[in-house]
Amino acid sequence: MDIDSIRSKFPILNQTVYGKPLVYFDNAATTQKPQSVIDTLCRYYETLNSNIHRGAHYLAAQATDQYEETRRAVQQFINARNHYEIVFTRGTTESINLVASSFGQRFLNEGDEVLISAMEHHSNIVPWQLTCERNGATLRVIPFSDKGELDLEAMENLMNEKTRIVAVNHVSNTLGTVNPVKQIVEMAHSHGIPVLVDGAQAISHFAVDVQELGCDFYCFSGHKMYGPMGVGVMYGREELLDQMPPYQGGGEMIKEVTFERTTYNELPFKFEAGTPAVGDVLGLHSAIRFMQETGINNIATYEKELTDYATEQLLNIEGLRIYGQARQKTSVISFLIGNAHPYDVGTLLDKLGIAVRTGHHCTQPIMDRYGIPGTVRASFAVYNTMEEINILINAIKRIAPMLM
Ligand code: PLP
Repeated sequence: MDIDSIRSKFPILNQTVYGKPLVYFDNAATTQKPQSVIDTLCRYYETLNSNIHRGAHYLAAQATDQYEETRRAVQQFINARNHYEIVFTRGTTESINLVASSFGQRFLNEGDEVLISAMEHHSNIVPWQLTCERNGATLRVIPFSDKGELDLEAMENLMNEKTRIVAVNHVSNTLGTVNPVKQIVEMAHSHGIPVLVDGAQAISHFAVDVQELGCDFYCFSGHKMYGPMGVGVMYGREELLDQMPPYQGGGEMIKEVTFERTTYNELPFKFEAGTPAVGDVLGLHSAIRFMQETGINNIATYEKELTDYATEQLLNIEGLRIYGQARQKTSVISFLIGNAHPYDVGTLLDKLGIAVRTGHHCTQPIMDRYGIPGTVRASFAVYNTMEEINILINAIKRIAPMLM
C-alpha cells in the first residue's frame, strides 16, 4: 500500500502541534476524514441541501436519491439481505438505544434476562440497564479472562429460558479483542436467543458480513470509519424489525395520523422519525468508497503489521504493561507504565505531538476488572506509519523515567 498517497488524502494530518508533527493515535475515539468526505459535505450544502422524501422539486429528488443510494451502499458494504434493513441513526449509541428500547418494549417482560459482556462500552450497558429497569428484567454479564478473552463456557451457563437477547461488541474499544461473534451467535441461536452486535470498533478494521455472522442487529458509527460525525447505522433483521414498535414518533415514520390512531410507515422509515442528517449520510457513502478503494483486506493486513510492531516494541520497555492480549486483536493497544497515572502519560505525549486517549474509555467495568483507574490507549488507522510508532516508542522511553 502507498501510505504516503493515503496520508495525502487526509488534510488534518499535515500539521504540527506544539511545533511537532501531529501523530494521531486516537482513532478508536474517532478517525480523521479524507478530503473526499469533506468535499461531499461541502457539495451537499453548496448544491443539494433540501429535505428528503417529501419534496416535489429537483433538489429534494436529488437529495432523496443520494440518501437512498447510500442505504444500498451500506447494505452492500455489510452484506445485508435487504436495503430496508438498514436504518440511519446518529451513531452506535443511538442505534443500541433504539434496539434496547424498541426490542425491550416488545419482547422484555418481568423476570426476563438480558445477557451482555463485561467488556462492553457504556453504550452497550446503560441502554440495557434502562430497558431492564423499565420492564422488570435482569442484566447478566459474561466475564472475560486476564488476557481479555470472553469466557464462552460461562456464557453457555448464563443462557437460560429467560434470556431474551445477547448484546456483545465485535471488538473491544479498550482491549482490542475481536470477539468470536459468529460462534456467539450460533450458541445464542441454538437457544432461540437473538444477538445484537456493537460493531463500532470493527467496521473500519476488517470486512463485516452480517449474513455470514448471522447476527440479528449490527450497530456502528460513521465517524469511526472515516465518515462524518452525526450519522450511524442500525442493521436489523426484517423479521424482528417488523415486530418491533417505533422508537421515536414524528414525521416520516407514519402512514396515517388521526387523533384517535396512527399507523406506521414501512421499514426502514418506521424507525427514521424526523429530518435525518442527509449531508452526513452522503458523507458516509464517500467514506465507504474510500475504504473500498483502499481495500478493506489491505487495511486489515496493514493495521495488523502496525499493531504487531507496536506491541513488540512497547513490551520491550521496562515497566510497561499491556491490557488486552487476546489472540485476535485489532489495532488498539491499552497500556500503563509502572505506577504512572495514565493522564500524566497522555499529557506528556501530547506535548510531544502524540495524540492518545487516557482514562476508562467508557468501559469502567473493564477498569474495575483489572483494579486500575484507566489506561493509555494508542489506536491505529490505515494512515498511520511505522515511523509514527517509532516516535511513540522513543517518546515513552524519554518520559518513562520522569514518571516512575
Ligand atoms: N461502542 C463502542 C465499542 C465504542 O467504542 C463506542 C465509541 O467509542 C461506542 C459504542 C459509541 O459510539 P458513538 O459515540 O459513536 O455512538
